[in-house]
Amino acid sequence: MNSEATSTNSSRPPIPARLHDAPTAQGLTIPYLTLCHRGRVSPVWGAIDPERYALVLALRLCQVCGEDLGNGHGPGNRVVVFIRPQDWIRGIGPEPGLHPECAAYSTRACPMLAGRMPTYRSNAVAARITPCDDPQCDCLQWTPPGSESEEAQRAGKPADPWYSMLIDARDYQIVHYRGDESGPSGYGVSLRGIQVMRLRKVRGTAEHERTVLDVLAAALDLTRLTDRL
Ligand SMILES: [Zn+2]
Ligand SMILES: [Zn+2]
Repeated sequence: MNSEATSTNSSRPPIPARLHDAPTAQGLTIPYLTLCHRGRVSPVWGAIDPERYALVLALRLCQVCGEDLGNGHGPGNRVVVFIRPQDWIRGIGPEPGLHPECAAYSTRACPMLAGRMPTYRSNAVAARITPCDDPQCDCLQWTPPGSESEEAQRAGKPADPWYSMLIDARDYQIVHYRGDESGPSGYGVSLRGIQVMRLRKVRGTAEHERTVLDVLAAALDLTRLTDRL
């Protein structure tokens, strides 16, 4: 999840140990996935680096720290995937996974997830084609994402409700999916046949409507409750 800096202190939560070496801007960790000008000091908040996106999916890296998410063979190896109700229905999550501690940080630092932004950034797509004055920077070659891309489709739209889903790392599988009426083709996290260990809403919508994931989260809580009896 990309984030945009704001001036309030609450937008600068403490940075967890795993992210101590990661670059920062305005007191916030720059996620590994975020498009940056040369030197990774000047992020284009809200824009995704397409090369890093491909790497993160292919190598099972955390989208925030860029480290290996693990293959599930270690004890307690868990992965968090941020999903929306429409992702669950489609069976594919376009957001790459995160370590639980990186997810906890993102939930507090990312304006989209923390509920501080009513809509996705509409200028992210435009910002990435504005070159900086560093002649060594790649930004002259940056091309705007196609109008079919997830990023372009989100731009300027009202924000979706987002949920944090905890799964076993063995259930974290990247699959290719074909385009249909709900979105273009691409790669994403398979949401079919997985065991959801925990599901929490991290960002609601203005309407407070109950989504399929609210129902699932309530069912999981009920199961946990009855397991304890
Ligand atoms: Zn640049
Ligand atoms: Zn991480």
